[in-house]
Amino acid sequence: MTESENISWHYSKVTKEHRRQLNNHKSVVLWFTGLSGSGKSTISVELEKELHQMGVRTYRLDGDNIRHGLNKDLGFSPDDRKENIRRIGEVSRLMVEAGLVTLTAFISPYREDRDEIRKMMNHDEFIEVFVDASLETCKSRDPKGLYKKVRAGKITGFTGIDAPYEAPVKPEITVNTDVAGVEESVQAIMSYLKTKGYLIND
Ligand code: ADP
Repeated sequence: MTESENISWHYSKVTKEHRRQLNNHKSVVLWFTGLSGSGKSTISVELEKELHQMGVRTYRLDGDNIRHGLNKDLGFSPDDRKENIRRIGEVSRLMVEAGLVTLTAFISPYREDRDEIRKMMNHDEFIEVFVDASLETCKSRDPKGLYKKVRAGKITGFTGIDAPYEAPVKPEITVNTDVAGVEESVQAIMSYLKTKGYLIND
């Protein structure tokens, strides 16, 4: 018998639907994926600000914050990356249950791992946002100086250089930050949310 067989699920009297009604909008995870420096953090920060100003309840999970806390025991091996993403997926699922528009900004390089998270949620609760930018663009931005460290041989196993990045096959939204400015990307995502009815309760 595994340990989890002894644990039973307690159902609340306040459900996800009740929370959505109180909030007056749906809850969903916007899963940003893309190379380091593609713009996931920047775009998700701006989008969250705009949603918040509209009265939408949000929460944003970002790579560095999580790696300092919840996942500080994990490194960057393929297994640790997988576990990193799995835990973030579980936390995101709870946040969607809690009625929040949840924004996650992680490289999440493996297609299989992202698909696993998609499977944890109802089909309309997971929106994959592919933040597409060429490696050249990302290297030239290098906001955290990480590509520089890779060139100096101080980091190995870096996504896009000597570790793979598997681009989404059918993301709900793609923003190409080689050409689109931050505000244009934010508006593209906002427009998707409005068109698909996420921001109102019907
Ligand atoms: P990531 O979270 O994907 O690692 P960041 O958002 O931390 O990427 O870094 C992207 C950097 O690129 C930021 O310094 C941002 O200001 C800059 N940048 C320049 N042009 C754009 C754009 N069109 N879209 C997003 N970020 C851009």
